[in-house]
Amino acid sequence: MANLSLKGIQKIYPNGFQAVKDFNLEIEDQEFIIFVGPSGCGKSTTLRMIAGLEDISGGTLEIDGKVMNDVEPKDRDIAMVFQNYALYPHMTVYDNMAFGLKLRKVPKDEIDKKVKEAAKILDLEKLLDRKPKALSGGQRQRVAMGRAIVRNPKVFLMDEPLSNLDAKLRVQMRIEIAKLHNNLKATMIYVTHDQTEAMTLGTRIVVMKDGVVQQVDSPQKLYNEP
Ligand code: ADP
Ligand code: ADP
Repeated sequence: MANLSLKGIQKIYPNGFQAVKDFNLEIEDQEFIIFVGPSGCGKSTTLRMIAGLEDISGGTLEIDGKVMNDVEPKDRDIAMVFQNYALYPHMTVYDNMAFGLKLRKVPKDEIDKKVKEAAKILDLEKLLDRKPKALSGGQRQRVAMGRAIVRNPKVFLMDEPLSNLDAKLRVQMRIEIAKLHNNLKATMIYVTHDQTEAMTLGTRIVVMKDGVVQQVDSPQKLYNEP
């Protein structure tokens, strides 16, 4: 289980630009939170601070009551899927999925079991020896998901994971992500520009603008659905 507490979170980049201003949000265990808002409003920055990929300039991030501000990314029980997938080009699909577990010194036979399980779920079993350049966009996206789910993270962050896919694959992967959320029992935070994704996946939607949270509401309320 994982509930997250973001209290007065701020980000000031080294050049002095304040990308996030006083971000407050309490996230319940297994919620599916959606971040929406115009490009540049601070969605990715907030996600990267939660993952530990970006220092927090002010405020407190707690997970299950523990302050996380200074915890290293690899010691956070969090996995992130990026918009551009960020796969390692010189590694095979198998090694891309195994990498995070190797880093955490998980025994080899356990890594093997987890990678093969994930490959089965994501229909990657026949592609394990390929390198990313020999995959389609949809397959690369699955590898990026696989790399995250092998770790069975308590918190799952996704930054526009479907925006580079064609419409048909997007629908298919959206359904897969809803299933994953149920199976993993993880707390999700998901950035998207797609209203259908926000409405069908989200338990709550956080609307950001210029580094500030403008509104937090259920999809039904926000989009005036019955
Ligand atoms: P979003 O994900 O909502 O598109 P980002 O979090 O990527 O927004 O960026 C928020 C703002 O911070 C943007 O104005 C962006 O240009 C700026 N920004 C992002 N990274 C840096 C950085 N490393 N240094 C300075 N400004 C940055
Ligand atoms: P996004 O797709 O989230 O909008 P961007 O294209 O804004 O991402 O940013 C891509 C990369 O460039 C990120 O690593 C971000 O930190 C960096 N970046 C964005 N804006 C700036 C900036 N003004 N100064 C320095 N780095 C930046």
